[in-house]
Amino acid sequence: MNLVIFGPPGAGKGTQSIKLVKEFNLFQLSTGDLLREEVKKKSSFGNKIQDIMNSGALVPDEIINTLLEKKVSTPEYSNKIIFDGYPRNINQAKSLDDLLKKYNQKMSLALNLKVNNDILVKRIVGRLTCSVCNKTFNTFFDPPMTCEKPLCSSRELKKRLDDNEETISKRLKTYDEKTFPVIDYYVQKGIMKNVDGMQEIQSISEQLITIIRALRG
Ligand code: AMP
Repeated sequence: MNLVIFGPPGAGKGTQSIKLVKEFNLFQLSTGDLLREEVKKKSSFGNKIQDIMNSGALVPDEIINTLLEKKVSTPEYSNKIIFDGYPRNINQAKSLDDLLKKYNQKMSLALNLKVNNDILVKRIVGRLTCSVCNKTFNTFFDPPMTCEKPLCSSRELKKRLDDNEETISKRLKTYDEKTFPVIDYYVQKGIMKNVDGMQEIQSISEQLITIIRALRG
């Protein structure tokens, strides 16, 4: 099954996706991660993307849709994708429907993680990511301990450039204006499920797993 994990920046989409990938043998398609891969290449294209990300705005749809199609068209991922950070506006939601149709796939479920803004800011400001396995920690809520893989002993804990207070307020504004309306798009399709994203990580995962199991039968 394909599913969308939805919620504002800092809602825990990435953290929960990693758990669902393990539980259901799915593939996490994070458009933020795809963009950060491009940025790492330090090309002029990558630098342009970095500037947009640092401003808290959305990267143009054409760029995202091209990166996305490369993954959606991969047979190995067919009908096994968790879309994390996409779609972020109504246009992207429509493009995603077209893309799935083109590759004979469908969207079965949209999960919405609901979190209050004051908690979101702390979650983003405190976020640190392992340079080896990409696991995220939080200096306030989930202090960096060991990762799950032995290889990560050589890790560095990285802070995202866009995880600063100035960019965060712009990212939250972008979410409210552009992304929030996408919730209704999936409500209309009858596939949206809301989950309280302010609980403990484990308890959120359990609820998400229960929803997916019920749907798979
Ligand atoms: P994320 O890692 O999902 O928090 O995304 C970080 C930044 O990447 C966002 O603030 C946007 O600038 C950009 N980005 C990620 N996904 C998308 C998308 N689907 N559409 C446009 N921009 C995106």
